[in-house]
Amino acid sequence: MFKIKKKLKNKLGRVGEFITPNGIIETPAFIVVGTKAAVKSLSPEQVGNLGAQAVLGNTYHLYLQPGDDIIKKAGGLNKFMNWNGPTFTDSGGFQVFSLGAGFGSNENKFEFQKNISNHSLNISDKVQSVHTKLVKINEDGVEFRSCIDGSRHFFTPEKSIEIQNNIGADIIFAFDECVSSSAEYNYQKEAMERTHRWAKRSLNYNNNHRLEVQLSSGNKQALFGIVQGGKFEDLRKKSAKIIGKMDFDGFGIGGSFSKEGLDKTLHFVNDLLPKEKIKHLLGIGEPSDLFIGIENGIDSFDCVSPTRIARTGMLYTKHGRINIIKVKYSRDFSKIEDDCKCYTCENYTKAYLSHLFRAQEMFASTLASIHNLYFIVNLVKNIRQSILDEKFYELKEEFLKKYYE
Ligand SMILES: [Zn+2]
Repeated sequence: MFKIKKKLKNKLGRVGEFITPNGIIETPAFIVVGTKAAVKSLSPEQVGNLGAQAVLGNTYHLYLQPGDDIIKKAGGLNKFMNWNGPTFTDSGGFQVFSLGAGFGSNENKFEFQKNISNHSLNISDKVQSVHTKLVKINEDGVEFRSCIDGSRHFFTPEKSIEIQNNIGADIIFAFDECVSSSAEYNYQKEAMERTHRWAKRSLNYNNNHRLEVQLSSGNKQALFGIVQGGKFEDLRKKSAKIIGKMDFDGFGIGGSFSKEGLDKTLHFVNDLLPKEKIKHLLGIGEPSDLFIGIENGIDSFDCVSPTRIARTGMLYTKHGRINIIKVKYSRDFSKIEDDCKCYTCENYTKAYLSHLFRAQEMFASTLASIHNLYFIVNLVKNIRQSILDEKFYELKEEFLKKYYE
C-alpha cells in the first residue's frame, strides 16, 4: 500500500510511504542492487548501516544460480541473504535480452543494447530473430542462453512470475521486453505491444497464484507493471495508458531514454499513470537523474552504478566524481568528504583508500562501495526531506551547481 504524505507544488514529485510485508519504504528512495542475493563486497549489516531501506535482486541471475527453488526452501530472498528489510526482484527481462544475447554486462540505460537492435531485433510480424542461436522471441516468451554455462532456457511471463513468487521478494515486476533506444519505431512498437500482452499474462498468473504464495510464505507480494516505448513519445503515452489501466500495485518505467528526453518523458508518463500508485524508475541513478526523476513523480530508483564504479576506484563527491587511484591521492590524508558521515569517511583517509586500490586489496571495494552507496542513498533522503521542508528547488540548484561545475 502506498500513502502520499506531501506533494511538490505544481509538479508530480511527492513524499510517500510504501508498506511491504517486510517493512515500510520511505519514498523517494534509492534501492540498493544486490543482483545475486548479495550487494557486492558488502554485508547486509553494512548495507543497513549506510541507510539503505531495500535491496533489489535479479530474477535472471537467481534463477540460474542458485535456482529459485533453493531460495524458496530457504524461506525467501530476505531470509536467504539475511537482509531484514523489504526486497525487490526485477523481471529478468533486461538480462534475458542483454546477457542472453551475449553482449556482456556493461549495459547502461542510455546506451545499452545498441548492438541488440543493430544486429538482431529488427524483425516484424514473424518475430524471428537473426540471432536465433542466442535470443529467440515469440509471442509465448523468450529463449535465451545462460551467461554461466551457455545452456538454453525459456522465459514466459508466467515463468518469470513463478520464479519471482518462489524468490518471494516484497515487490516483483511483470515480464517485459527491453529494446534499445536506437531500435526503429516499428520494432519498438511491436515490442511494446508484446510487453502489454505479457503484462496482462503476468498479472493473470500472479492473481491465480497469489493466494498459494501468500499461504506458503506468509507474504503478500506487490506486482508492478512496466511501461515501455523507448524514446518515442506516442508509444510511451500509449504504454502508460494501457499499463496504467491494469490492476498493478505500482509501476516500473523501463527501457532506455535519450538523456535529454528523461525529464519530458517521465513527466508525461507519470502524468498518465494513476497518481495514487508508486512508480519505480528501473536502472537509473546518476545524481542529476535522481532530481529529474523525483521532480517528475518517481518514488524509487535502483541502479548498479554506485557499487560498480566504486569497484574501479571512482567515488562520488559533492564536486563530482573523483578517481581515488590517481597519484595525487596517495599522500592525501584527508577524508573523501569532510562532512560525510559514512563509515569509510569517519575512519579512513584518501591515502589509505588509494593504497588499497593500488595493492588490489578486496577491502578497497568494500570501503568505496560504502561511501558511494551512502552518498546516493542519502542524497535521495535529503531530496525527500527538501520536499517536506518545501526547499526542493533550492537543494536541486545548489547540489547540481556544485556537482557539475
Ligand atoms: Zn563517505
